[in-house]
Amino acid sequence: MTTATAPRAQSSDLIGQIIYAVRSMGVAPIPRNYQLFYEAYIGSNPDLTRDLAALGSRATQEELDALSHRYLGTGQVAVIEDAHTRILGELDALLKLLRQEQSSLESYGKLLGETAQRINSKSNFSNDLLTSALALLSEATGSTMAHGEKTVGGVVQRSQEMDQVRRELDEYKRIANTDSLTRIANRRAFDERLAATYDNMALLPVTALVLADIDNFKKINDSYGHPVGDKILATVASVIRSNVRKDVFVARSGGEEFAILVEGNTPEEVMIICERVRRALETRIFRNSRSGIDYGPVTISLGFAMGSQASDPGELYANADTALYNAKNAGRNRSVFFDDSMKKDYVGKSWLIYRK
Ligand code: GH3
Ligand code: MG
Ligand code: MG
Repeated sequence: MTTATAPRAQSSDLIGQIIYAVRSMGVAPIPRNYQLFYEAYIGSNPDLTRDLAALGSRATQEELDALSHRYLGTGQVAVIEDAHTRILGELDALLKLLRQEQSSLESYGKLLGETAQRINSKSNFSNDLLTSALALLSEATGSTMAHGEKTVGGVVQRSQEMDQVRRELDEYKRIANTDSLTRIANRRAFDERLAATYDNMALLPVTALVLADIDNFKKINDSYGHPVGDKILATVASVIRSNVRKDVFVARSGGEEFAILVEGNTPEEVMIICERVRRALETRIFRNSRSGIDYGPVTISLGFAMGSQASDPGELYANADTALYNAKNAGRNRSVFFDDSMKKDYVGKSWLIYRK
């Protein structure tokens, strides 16, 4: 079961020998070539073994295909080729996704490592595929149809595995984008969303960034303790979330600061939204149901700016923060729409400093 052209095999198993032969002879490592070499190796047709050997080590793909066509027919080749392409595509998409995720999942390194391992093990699929392809072909008889069904079955099973991995990745992505305390989007997700704001310039006049910051939150922590502060933070998040439309993006952008991205509204309408959220919080009773202690009222200050008032996401953020700074300065528990004239007050009180 050797051909004259086959170099000395390094692997003891048949598939290993074939893979080695294909690689060392510079033949394209594609399924139909593996199939051809397999047939030659097992000597299913001595004429094929002889003809392949006669091609020597510089066989062109056309010559190999001519042999495939003559000795193997084309039906099975096409089916296997198709399966291979599909799996390659799936795997490529997954690896791409994984690479994209890699940067965003630092804190989930371990989970990611496991996923990467799973995917890597799946990247040995060409071996797996070859095994199943060879298993198919090694049957002495059987129609192309039967082969095709089996191959398709294999592909279905494989793509189910891929789907599973994809679902897991989706779950990791969800975790990586969610703030664990408040269960809304986190800073990372917000940064990503904000960065995309300027992708659609036409929407900028009706895109608003609202920043909402809890008033005197430090006092709440100091008076009742950090765990109570945490509970209040989570409640504030849910009050904000439930007082805006579903399509409005809400994130916890910092310690006790929230970012709200509203699309499709004029500044006047955004002001109404801000005031609705602010009022909802102001009137909310924060009372410990067991001890009866009343923590409230808890209020927020809001500042917002429209996308068209800035030339990039960073400036938009600074503008909204400037408006928020104004709301705080004006006494808190209010909503302020950004105005260019506010910038002068803001200079020298860098929002980075203000934000500590
Ligand atoms: P202002 O009205 O000016 O915003 O006053 P403030 O007290 O809210 O602002 P300051 O920036 O002085 O304090 C914010 C506080 O928020 C301090 C910090 O300990 C608290 N904080 C930030 N993140 C968390 C958190 O995750 N949990 C709790 N409990 N507190 C937090
Ligand atoms: Mg605050
Ligand atoms: Mg703050």
